[in-house]
Amino acid sequence: MAIDKTKYLSKKLQNMSESATLKMAQKARDLRAQGKDVISLSIGQPDFDTPEHIKEYAKKALDEGFTKYTPVPGLPDLREAISQKFKRDNNLDYSKDQIVVSNGAKQTIANIMLSLLNPGDEVIIFTPYWVSYNDIVRFAGGTPVFVKAGIEKDFKVTPDQLEAAINPKSKIVLFSSPCNPTGSVYSHDELLALAKVIDKYDNLFVVSDEIYEHINFLGKHTSIGEFDIVKDQTITVNGFSKGFAMTGWRLGYMGAPDWLAKACAKVQGQFTSGANAFGQKAAAEALSGDMGPTQNMKAAFLRRKELVLSLINDIPGITCNNPDGAFYIFPNISKLYGRSNGLLTINNSNDFSNIILSEAHVAVVAGAAFGDDQCFRLSYAAADEQLVEALARMKDVLQNFK
Ligand code: PMP
Ligand code: GLU
Repeated sequence: MAIDKTKYLSKKLQNMSESATLKMAQKARDLRAQGKDVISLSIGQPDFDTPEHIKEYAKKALDEGFTKYTPVPGLPDLREAISQKFKRDNNLDYSKDQIVVSNGAKQTIANIMLSLLNPGDEVIIFTPYWVSYNDIVRFAGGTPVFVKAGIEKDFKVTPDQLEAAINPKSKIVLFSSPCNPTGSVYSHDELLALAKVIDKYDNLFVVSDEIYEHINFLGKHTSIGEFDIVKDQTITVNGFSKGFAMTGWRLGYMGAPDWLAKACAKVQGQFTSGANAFGQKAAAEALSGDMGPTQNMKAAFLRRKELVLSLINDIPGITCNNPDGAFYIFPNISKLYGRSNGLLTINNSNDFSNIILSEAHVAVVAGAAFGDDQCFRLSYAAADEQLVEALARMKDVLQNFK
């Protein structure tokens, strides 16, 4: 008799949810393996390949023997290149020793939370949030506090909302701009206004996730850490996955105060020993190399955004704002709630994404996973033809829901 042994799993693990984005991407792969023609707009990764010149750097690095462990916080060459990049692109002063390179920005964020949080410490998470923030914070022992902005505010939290959420237990403010899942971008002035609130609380840190820096349709990206008033409170997170189409390389990094960079390296030294050597060597070259491919990808994303917006706005019952960055739209579907096709009913965002997957064979992610059950996330990092087909299928299926 098969006995369910999952009860032996740690409480910590039992309390952790599976990543909804990765789960949906796997569901789509499984259905495809069964021969179904599934269009996956679920996972957030550029559909482009890593630029040729970066792949060449990696091949060269392998031939040159970059096949051993590197220093835990990263190859000195790469940390130096990141330090220069922060200065050049973001007006941020982080010395090489304030930089830690990890296996993706996801590990960077985990390192930070494991280094800073004690049980009961609160992390203010701007909501809608990237799916993993919630679980990483809880796994590290912290308590997430969700400060939410809806579509009517372009999904952007105001300084007053932030101030109202702060109390003596607050330790970290965590957000992404450009934002996953909404695509919203906080302007220079909006970030300055948030910085003025954070500045009032010496024991508060801000983790600024800037992984979509290069996919910003407004022009110049602003980092909150560039404001002197919060410089010592800011941890700037970034990585190679999105801007350089390097998701599978698993390379992310942060700039942080010295003491925190040391702490994160200590955690990493016990968990992974650091990121892979030849990837780091190539990444160092990428930072000072040709940005043409990154610019071209951004142009493609902008074009596709216009395409998906025109198609989604043509579906009755769906409302969408016009995001300024990343490669997601986060449409509101609450007008569809309660509608049925006779067999299936849409009562929430999970129903919606399940129905769209089973009936239209299009994979999207329920907004509930990002803290907003009124919406769903669609990644438009896919070929134009796929986007057109996916939205036509969605429209067809939804018109039977009355
Ligand atoms: N932050 C945000 C906002 C993301 O969307 C992602 C997803 N890639 C990450 C961090 C993690 O990226 P990676 O681990 O691939 O560097
Ligand atoms: N960050 C991407 C997403 O939101 C990749 C998957 C993940 O790591 O969650 O889809």
